[in-house]
Amino acid sequence: MSSKEAKTVENKAPSNFIRHIIDNDLSARKHEKIVTRFPPEPNGYLHIGHAKSICLNFGLAQDYQGVCNLRFDDTNPEKESQEYIDSITRDVEWLGFAWAGEIRHASAYFDQLYDFAIELIRKGKAYVCSLTAEQMTEYRGSLKEPGKPSPYRDRSVEENLALFEKMRAGEFKEGECVLRAKIDMASPNINLRDPILYRIRFADHHQTGNKWCIYPMYDYTHPISDALEGITHSLCTLEFEDHRPLYDWVLDNITIACHPQQIEFSRLNVNYTVTSKRKLKRLVDEGLVNGWDDPRMPTIAGMRRRGFTPESLRRFCESVGVTKSEGVVDVAMLEHAIREDLNERAPRAMCVLDPLKIVLENYPEDKIELLTVPNHPQKPEMGERQLPWTREIFIDRADFIEVAPNKQWKRLALGESVRLRGGYCITCKEMITDEQGQLIELRCTYDPDTHGVNPQGYKPRGVLHWVSATECVDAEVRLYDRLFNHESPDANKDGVDFVTLMNPESLVVQACAKAEKSLASAGSEIPFQFEREGYFYRDPVETSALIFNRTITLRDSWGKADAKG
Ligand code: ATP
Ligand code: MG
Repeated sequence: MSSKEAKTVENKAPSNFIRHIIDNDLSARKHEKIVTRFPPEPNGYLHIGHAKSICLNFGLAQDYQGVCNLRFDDTNPEKESQEYIDSITRDVEWLGFAWAGEIRHASAYFDQLYDFAIELIRKGKAYVCSLTAEQMTEYRGSLKEPGKPSPYRDRSVEENLALFEKMRAGEFKEGECVLRAKIDMASPNINLRDPILYRIRFADHHQTGNKWCIYPMYDYTHPISDALEGITHSLCTLEFEDHRPLYDWVLDNITIACHPQQIEFSRLNVNYTVTSKRKLKRLVDEGLVNGWDDPRMPTIAGMRRRGFTPESLRRFCESVGVTKSEGVVDVAMLEHAIREDLNERAPRAMCVLDPLKIVLENYPEDKIELLTVPNHPQKPEMGERQLPWTREIFIDRADFIEVAPNKQWKRLALGESVRLRGGYCITCKEMITDEQGQLIELRCTYDPDTHGVNPQGYKPRGVLHWVSATECVDAEVRLYDRLFNHESPDANKDGVDFVTLMNPESLVVQACAKAEKSLASAGSEIPFQFEREGYFYRDPVETSALIFNRTITLRDSWGKADAKG
């Protein structure tokens, strides 16, 4: 391989079958420049699956110096809203992508779509059908049986034009009639059995208000919107493979210069996760989560609030690749991507989630010593900060036990020693309990000769995180875990309702955590690694208190014994 070739490979994401198609099209001069689009329907928040489609469409445009449009596929006014449009726009921007020109809306093409429908009617390729919905299903046939023609199939062009105009003018009730394409009722592909092009809906549209009471169907709108925008490669998920003949039929039968190529790729499915807007909406509507941006949700908004970075999501999407074969990606891959990214960028800090007080009997009461510690053990450029060492400190309750169970116990026990990170070694002398026998305090001594130096004559069991009890701030820490503890909550097996598969411990709140003082001014710009606990992010929504969301633990403990230590 020449060095020039090597460079091209280096700068681009791994190749895939879509890149091969584009490479061929460009070298055959079929297109000068590629134009892709991301076409969400604004009927919910975007999820991790959409992130894959965004990274693919915008990523290809970037790599091939083409452009990518953001187009709202807004033909179902009852299910759509401006809130969803705003959230989607924000998500795409946050992921780091820029669309070409203005944001587009399929609804902006309603006039043209209407004119093309008239053209189809004039050519005898579309007709107004007055069958009821039930009759239409019956006439459509099945996979085994051909359909039969609607009795309205042979209405004259004049009659169809007049009826379609009446549909538009609001002279029919919802469901009374539809406009259908006249294709082939015997086609083995059911999508071609005279599919509906327009239906009547007396609904206000978030973009067009009450201008229309007929709305075009997705299969009709999508190819025309693509063609009007000069899209070269129209990428969609595999379930649209059987719709491709209809996509092509629409463009072949109207007068339009451009004919984009529809290419299907496999959806991203992630285990322990649901990736369906409809199901996610149910979790929101039934109050099973705290909104679309609940940090447990696999929505982009939820992951952002939880502390995921755009870089980690982009890297994850790249690593899952683009193929035509359906598969399920292990959520551990996503967790790995965020861990790797945060390990690099997150400054370290200390926060004790479940505080247990320690009094250092041999340390003066009003003395404060400032200990300098690095913000990142491997990155001196990230600077240093100071931790106050005082007579009273907190460690985590889970880091103490009266009698160490074995040699592997790397934490504190009665009569034993540990090092407090960045500070001194301490030895536990006494346990103080309340009237019920509950441990409330430990009496310890500190060894003044051990700051940054190994102790003489004894070996501490381990290194613990801690904060000063008198120089710290209160914090609430929200420990998030997987929302489902079932591998395939999406499977719908044996009529199991996916909401019954939710993980009851997906959120554990530590309301009385104690954080080092420097965290008082932490914003939501950067994530932190709380030493020995995981990666945390200041909640960007509830900002009146100091609330931290756990993005991810330090290690993957699913399916293994608790690796915390
Ligand atoms: P859902 O099934 O969650 O309702 P959708 O496909 O109906 O999603 P759209 O708003 O129509 O949602 O999707 C916008 C784009 O994102 C489409 O091109 C769609 O194919 C793609 N997309 C949706 N889900 C996934 C996924 N899981 N993996 C990859 N791409 C996806
Ligand atoms: Mg869709």
